[in-house]
Amino acid sequence: MKILVVGGVAGGASVAARARRIDENSQVIMFERGPHVSFSNCSLPYHLSGMIADSAELVLMEPIGFLKKFNIDARVNQEVVAIDPIKKFVTVKNLLTGEEYQESYDKLALSPGAEAVRPGVIEGINDDNVFVVKNVVDIDKLQRYIVQNDVTELAVVGGGFIGLEVCENLVKAGKKVHLIEALDQVMNPLDYDMVQLLHKEMYDNGVDLLLKERVVSIKEGKVFLDSGKQITAELVVMAAGVRPETTLAKQCGIELGETGAILVNRNYQTNYPDIYAVGDAIEVTHKLTGKKTKLALAGPAQRQARAAADHMFGKSHNNNGVIGSSCIHMFDLNVANTGLNEKQCEQFGFNYDVVYSIFGDRVKLIPGVSPIFFKLIYEVPTGRVLGAQAIGKGAVDKRIDVIATVIFMNGTLEHLKELELCYAPHFSLARDVVNQTALAALNLLQNDFKQVRVSDVRGLVEKGAFIVDVREEDEFAEGHIVGAKNIPMSQIRGRLDEIPRDQPVYLHCKSSQRAYNVIRALQTLGFDNLYCISGSFLGLCFHEYYLDQTTGREMIVTKYNFN
Ligand code: FAD
Repeated sequence: MKILVVGGVAGGASVAARARRIDENSQVIMFERGPHVSFSNCSLPYHLSGMIADSAELVLMEPIGFLKKFNIDARVNQEVVAIDPIKKFVTVKNLLTGEEYQESYDKLALSPGAEAVRPGVIEGINDDNVFVVKNVVDIDKLQRYIVQNDVTELAVVGGGFIGLEVCENLVKAGKKVHLIEALDQVMNPLDYDMVQLLHKEMYDNGVDLLLKERVVSIKEGKVFLDSGKQITAELVVMAAGVRPETTLAKQCGIELGETGAILVNRNYQTNYPDIYAVGDAIEVTHKLTGKKTKLALAGPAQRQARAAADHMFGKSHNNNGVIGSSCIHMFDLNVANTGLNEKQCEQFGFNYDVVYSIFGDRVKLIPGVSPIFFKLIYEVPTGRVLGAQAIGKGAVDKRIDVIATVIFMNGTLEHLKELELCYAPHFSLARDVVNQTALAALNLLQNDFKQVRVSDVRGLVEKGAFIVDVREEDEFAEGHIVGAKNIPMSQIRGRLDEIPRDQPVYLHCKSSQRAYNVIRALQTLGFDNLYCISGSFLGLCFHEYYLDQTTGREMIVTKYNFN
């Protein structure tokens, strides 16, 4: 069989390598229009901080390696410019010589990726000091410009994971970075409440975070925003999203789906059965919503590549759709998410609830222990797990991977509660945060207690609600909610007469565990109007901090305490 592959990176190289593993006799040719195949796109930003000192290290395998190790003919600087799906050949342009030639195929796989969006409405968008980060050539160009022009202050446009990683690495390189984002938050897969922790981290590390701002023009070392603000920026990195690369597909009559990406069936075949497509360029189905969507991530691209190559040789895979698991490292924080967030649950009409928890990532006697801020989203009343978000200094990705596995298996809170996960003091708690959170969610689902969220607390304070802080007195003295009454857990049984029965009472502690215990005790004593502030004081401090600092609004805590 003669197999041609368009695109020589995540999806393309994986199709080619898998085809070779299946059949030593097939001829496999991989075309890449850039000068490199098989480079680590995901590591590109780390060249800017010098963590990856030499950009050559980003290239994982040269064409000669593909030839010698896999007998794959990897042709760089060769762009596939046309496909004849009826006569089954492609036209290839050698970008170094301009010469064009044709190559026939039995099977063709497209993995052309996605292009970085450069909004045409922005004046100056194509100027020499405006960059994108998609490949090794881009990152070399950007780094060279920074060094040659001794750039000290710049703007990154877009608060998705590429924008944030570029931002972090430039800050680490000592640059002043303005991060401009049109939405009211960075990292859209996270919910607004959780993302406040990330906003705080960026703010604390000196990033000038400009939310709800759009770039109008770039000129004379400045970026002009639609709010009228002007930002000094010797250069601009555009990371305002990606668009599926569909030019070639459209040109030969390959159908696109409703999202504008290439339409494929469950086996990644296009409307021409001998032409497959995988990766950022294709439309995928969300496992939970059943809706068509796009997902530009490396893991799905590689999975799809293997399935496409297998199908060429007659083997089908179960295609379960995607759930969108992703993670990012940002200064001292790790951030991960999977499945649906609240915005999506609302958009797609899920009946859902959420629960927050804060538990140590390991036993508190072990040096380096740090909290994991965890949010679990589940369906009501089935308890089916729909999504999760986790932020902390420790292994949040491991916890989100557990949730991703549960979602993949259509698991519920009952499954999550019962999951037997490995434990030793260095790694987790005997009942890990994911088990603990499932228990809290089950308690909520079974109406064992009621909760409000930290995002509700400002409103409660403003209306003079009865808020009880059950932390000990010394903790209370180090910062508390304005107007809260301190009845420490250790004194609660002797001070029951201080808790009203004729109005709602909102209880919290540092992380909700003590408050929950107190609520259960009080409920058995006949108190029935109690609410736990889910996330409690620690969650509240993180939730409020960034907006307090940047908007000058009144604080609802007497003092932040992040410990
Ligand atoms: P690509 O890997 O982009 O490969 C497409 C290739 O096709 C390109 O090199 C292009 O030049 C070539 N091509 C296009 N058209 C033609 C043509 N006509 N002829 C010849 N060649 C052509 N994902 C994660 O999961 N985690 C991360 O941490 C992460 N970080 C990232 C950081 C950065 C800076 C970037 C840019 C991406 C990151 N991604 C990450 C996304 C991930 O890299 C992509 O989802 C993945 O590479 C998609 O694979 P692909 O094969 O579809 O496209």
